[in-house]
Amino acid sequence: EPLIGVLAMQGAVREHVAMLEAAGARAVPVRRAGELSEVDGLVLPGGESTTMSRLLESFELLEPLKARVAEGMPAFGSCAGMILLARQTLDGRPDQQQIGGLDVVVRRNAFGRQVDSFEADLDFAGVDGEVRAVFIRAPWVEKAGDGVDVLATVSGVPGAEEDTARIVAVRQGAVLATAFHPELTPDVRVHRLFVDLVRKAA
Ligand code: GLN
Repeated sequence: EPLIGVLAMQGAVREHVAMLEAAGARAVPVRRAGELSEVDGLVLPGGESTTMSRLLESFELLEPLKARVAEGMPAFGSCAGMILLARQTLDGRPDQQQIGGLDVVVRRNAFGRQVDSFEADLDFAGVDGEVRAVFIRAPWVEKAGDGVDVLATVSGVPGAEEDTARIVAVRQGAVLATAFHPELTPDVRVHRLFVDLVRKAA
């Protein structure tokens, strides 16, 4: 079984650990570079991306994390985690750091402040049937490079009316990201996709 870390700076760390275990992996929280070096893949939870990037710097994890992702370590970011894995953030704070790994430009708090959170049932490439997606001050992917697979879009919500599908899940190689929070539903299928990516990379 692969050993998957959950970055434990902020966010739903326990929920991600439980989902990964339910999906057949071993899972551990990661706070230090030594712990990062032992895992076969890493989940970056939601939270607040600027705060998370500051915490990554003070825990001296930012550079090691950039290096491991650049070397091909599988990673899965949800919400703020997606923002950190993007190559560029629009509407970010000036000191926002990017880990990179995904050739995408994301827009932070993209659905607007008046819609703090919402849920939607989405088609998700690689998963049969719909996925219940919980969005909390979520970003969307504004631009995706040629090497990026779009896995899910949302429309029919503020900021993404019926005729504007917004990209909310992507994969590039072994890097997966969702603008929403699969760890806040009972459905483990998105985590299972990630565990499969980690197994294949091992
Ligand atoms: N709005 C947050 C940010 O900009 C992300 C929200 C989340 O992770 N639920 O980082």
